[in-house]
Amino acid sequence: MSDLFGQSARELVERLRYHSGPYAKYALEARKKYVEIRLKQDKKIKSMYIRIIKNIAKEVRGLAANGDSEMKIRHLVELEKAVAQEIASLNGEVDEATAEFIAEAVEAGLSYSQGVTYKLLDEAGIDKAPMIRRFHKVNVRAAEAVYARTINGLSTSDRIWRNSQKAGTSIRTIIQEGIVMGKDVREVARSLEKYAQNGKQTLARDYPNMMKRLGNRIPQDVSYEALRLARTEMTAAFGEGTIQSVRVSPSSKGIQWVLSPSHPVVDICDTFANADHGLGRGVYPVGEEPMFPPHPNCLCSLLPVHEDPDDFVDKLKEWRENPQSQPQIEEWYKEVYKAA
Ligand SMILES: [Zn+2]
Repeated sequence: MSDLFGQSARELVERLRYHSGPYAKYALEARKKYVEIRLKQDKKIKSMYIRIIKNIAKEVRGLAANGDSEMKIRHLVELEKAVAQEIASLNGEVDEATAEFIAEAVEAGLSYSQGVTYKLLDEAGIDKAPMIRRFHKVNVRAAEAVYARTINGLSTSDRIWRNSQKAGTSIRTIIQEGIVMGKDVREVARSLEKYAQNGKQTLARDYPNMMKRLGNRIPQDVSYEALRLARTEMTAAFGEGTIQSVRVSPSSKGIQWVLSPSHPVVDICDTFANADHGLGRGVYPVGEEPMFPPHPNCLCSLLPVHEDPDDFVDKLKEWRENPQSQPQIEEWYKEVYKAA
């Protein structure tokens, strides 16, 4: 969690505050929403994994009901149905939750430029209702696009499915080891619960032999890959919301790549944050921003860049008097505002 609340997270907030200037309120609110979604998402997905493994552990414990408490091969067949069912329901739940978090993150990413646009239109006395409709459409479309995107040929749901299957493999591996070592079913059930709750390390303390045998066949944390996937998708969704909102905002000039301060080694993010496109360091013209995030666990942030509020309200007022005096706003009016 230190990446959300530690020193470098505070520094990132300061960078966002500095670069957003008169719009800091919107930038910091959007960042706060991002952090809240991340926390909620981590907790929810982790708890889904723990719950289904507890259910399987309960089935394992139930095997002792007929008096034989040692794990046997025939138990595998009995348990397989429960394992397959629990993994299928885990997959469905994680998939649904990921889609929800993507939608929420797009909305959070949009919120900065949305807030700025509403404020500026209000101040200039222009009806914002068409923009409310427009932002809603952008929101829905961006969430669908992020969910549908493929990485290495796999869609979001393919990648979630793959992680669910890996969890199934780890669970089966622990059960099989129980059989090989002739363990008591209650002990195997406990191993599963400990693994789900606290990871492989805690198993190592209680069952050193079992751990030696398991080696690298099960991951340290059964939900790690699922959490990482959800975070990456959520960050991409936040970025996509930011990018799409800038495209429909009349006052936007570009998007700034704000480098995360927790960067132990120079990577592609430094390149993106330092690129010069004539709008200032790391600021990209609308439509020319790089793919975001460029790598999993990237903590950089995309920040909309808008014209100064006072100047822009003046421009809006001038445009209302004489549309030809502000050709860019007139273009936005025809293509975005009126078309909404
Ligand atoms: Zn980064």
